[in-house]
Amino acid sequence: MLPLINFATEEQRERYLVPCMNGEMLSAFALTEPGTGSDAMNITTKAVLDDAGTHYVVNGGKQWITNAGWADIFILFAQVDGEHFTAFVLERDSEGLEIGANEHLLGQHGSSVAALSLENVHIPIQNLLGEVGKGHKVAFCTLNMGRLKLATNSASGARAAVEVASRYAAERTQFGRPIGEFGLIQRKLADMAARAYAAESVAYRTSGLVYQALEAKAGNDRPTLDDKLAMLSEFSVECAMAKVHTSEAYNHLADEAVQVFGGYGFSEEYPPARMYRDSRIARIYEGTNEICRLYAQRAILRRSWSGRLDLSGTQDQTDDSLSAVSYDAALGSGSRHLDITNLKSVYRHLTAEVCAAVQRERMFDAENQQLMASLADIAIEIFATESVFLRISKGFSGSGLDGMELYEDLEQIYFIHAVDRIRQEANEILAALFTGLELAEQLRKLDEWLPLPVGLIVYRARVAKVLLQDGGLPVFA
Ligand SMILES: Cc1cc2nc3c(=O)[nH]c(=O)nc-3n(C[C@H](O)[C@H](O)[C@H](O)COP(=O)(O)OP(=O)(O)OC[C@H]3O[C@@H](n4cnc5c(N)ncnc54)[C@H](O)[C@@H]3O)c2cc1C
Repeated sequence: MLPLINFATEEQRERYLVPCMNGEMLSAFALTEPGTGSDAMNITTKAVLDDAGTHYVVNGGKQWITNAGWADIFILFAQVDGEHFTAFVLERDSEGLEIGANEHLLGQHGSSVAALSLENVHIPIQNLLGEVGKGHKVAFCTLNMGRLKLATNSASGARAAVEVASRYAAERTQFGRPIGEFGLIQRKLADMAARAYAAESVAYRTSGLVYQALEAKAGNDRPTLDDKLAMLSEFSVECAMAKVHTSEAYNHLADEAVQVFGGYGFSEEYPPARMYRDSRIARIYEGTNEICRLYAQRAILRRSWSGRLDLSGTQDQTDDSLSAVSYDAALGSGSRHLDITNLKSVYRHLTAEVCAAVQRERMFDAENQQLMASLADIAIEIFATESVFLRISKGFSGSGLDGMELYEDLEQIYFIHAVDRIRQEANEILAALFTGLELAEQLRKLDEWLPLPVGLIVYRARVAKVLLQDGGLPVFA
């Protein structure tokens, strides 16, 4: 529906958007083709204006289209004259359109996903969505928003995984005790909770950034399409990072929930099996996580090279130069402290070293991609750690929520794991760039920046106790 909300003409709104909003019509988004998935701008479905100038004649095929089985309309992408990427509204009963059988999917069994085949399908010119050659605007706007929606969806899935695992661990007994009393289950539950909390914080923060920016831009008026496009483009890095972080969190937590359930986790009779299957797709659609990582890191570098983002580290310690814009200073950190500044120093240092090496040695693209993805992972961990910190700081400075110790324990657990992941990626980058004494010196510097995992076992035990008592994470505003 988003393409219609953003790009439909008045006539298209009446004909398609209103019925969609009323629940009388369902739409689908048809971009992917058998030969072009990640490389979406190179689709080959072709549209040619007919001699009368009244219809586009479309030929081609689409693959993996969600809702295909029951959609009334398709937002269809095709190349006008084979070269101008363009969006259309295609009605289901159009002659020449064939909808394939539902795919047998690993998960999401309640959905209908199928292929489309288009043979001389006539689409009236009134059904052009946006402008000829400007279909990328429709696609990117939808994908950016889609990544954000997917992030909130995955974050809630992650929370649900913690909940079912905590409840089960409190009830299931082995060796005469609830399994939740065993240290290894407690460790699992606490780590799950910290990651779910971080995923939620990332999703909230990114949604808040986009929403607040739109509100600020529009003032009392409704945001214009250009405002929306500019904002979504401004926050496309955060949307991509949020998509990667939350989808991987949910997928991992679903796997851990299966483990907490033991053999019952492998049965379709219990919730983890479905979570395990359903969570997997989030790492693939709306831009695979590989594509999102590369996109985010390259965009950060482009912003830095164009002077929009300072990665030099010369700003004062409160700067937020890893985020595309500054976070709301009113959140404040009060008396709380978490050493995120050092993590940012690691990122800046490694980015500078990678850029210098790429320029100096003209690395092959494949090697370059690996380094880019490692940098992206570090940026994502910093973004997530900072999101947790800001969220808890807001709770402290606001209504003074009960049980803040729990949140600080979650924060510490997440921070320690984030540092671990950053260390691993940083080691990989440094080992690719340096050898011998130079490498040893770089690793020593890294150790100075990155803290040791002090207190992890104690934090975990305290968090697990709350999870087992309450049956999951309390709702935290
Ligand atoms: C259940 C389901 C529902 C879907 N719903 C829709 C829908 O409603 N509408 C729609 O248009 N599409 C939909 N899709 C398609 C989905 O968006 C694509 O599957 C996805 O974009 C990946 O494309 P692909 O499958 O062709 O994989 P490919 O692009 O072939 O990628 C294969 C692997 O190579 C990696 N890769 C590709 N290019 C690069 C690169 N440049 N650098 C590094 N790694 C790379 C990928 O990350 C991936 O790991 C759906 C897919 C599924 C499975």
